[in-house]
Amino acid sequence: MTTKHPIGAFIIVDDDLDLRLAAAQKLEIPTAQILAPPKNRRGVDDVKILQEKFAKANVKITTVFCGFEGESYTDIPTVQETVGLVPLETRFSRFDEAKAISAFAAELGVAVTALHLGFIPEKNDVAAYRDIVEITQQLCDYCKQNGQRLHLETGQETAESLFQFIRDVDRENLAVNFDPANMILYGSGEPIPALKMLAGHVKSVHCKDAKWAVNPGKEWGEEVILGDGDVNMELFLKTLKEISYVGPLTIEREISGEQQIKDIEKSVALLQRLRSEIWGE
Ligand code: MG
Repeated sequence: MTTKHPIGAFIIVDDDLDLRLAAAQKLEIPTAQILAPPKNRRGVDDVKILQEKFAKANVKITTVFCGFEGESYTDIPTVQETVGLVPLETRFSRFDEAKAISAFAAELGVAVTALHLGFIPEKNDVAAYRDIVEITQQLCDYCKQNGQRLHLETGQETAESLFQFIRDVDRENLAVNFDPANMILYGSGEPIPALKMLAGHVKSVHCKDAKWAVNPGKEWGEEVILGDGDVNMELFLKTLKEISYVGPLTIEREISGEQQIKDIEKSVALLQRLRSEIWGE
């Protein structure tokens, strides 16, 4: 790979994996973040099959994302109730699951485990905040044993809150997967200033675009094809250069089927053009 900013795609490992990999190979996408397959498909044989399939398609897996049973992104209040390690009823079973996914990622030879932590409680809610700091520390320490970093997906918090949280967790292998569209979708702040604030903590990114909701933070914004939203992809990539970001540019398009592949194809072309203009790569 001659570029320090290889293009990537977010790939779900399911029965359509072969189709997704064929599309990635056709578009010459060299890297991917994957969503961890379910528990019963993370055995030794599954690891071997996945490694072979990705190698055959010339796609390197850079990150394994955790997804948990019972999570729902229907609307913002539902995310608060159901996503990540924050909801108490499922916290400890999901903590075990996240560790199992980290171990699976290690078997695959992947150096990053990532997740949506959920809506981190306000810092003045002292006990609740401390509990999330502690469980994140434990998860970071577990990932470290596996030679990995833990990346937190942005979206639920303002950049200030996330920055403070990272300081409080105080683990060198904790970093950010910066998704500029999520800042807009959740209404948690302008993405470019957020990226500048989190700067050195950003170790992976999603190239995703979105339009602001009429009432940001109360209702979802709208995810759109890369380049058509309010992120300003050119400024996003220029800012990545400014903060000396090195790492993949992972396209995330949260729709499915033929249209997803078409949109990814256009996104690849846009990113290649901007990458060449901005980094000369
Ligand atoms: Mg994302």
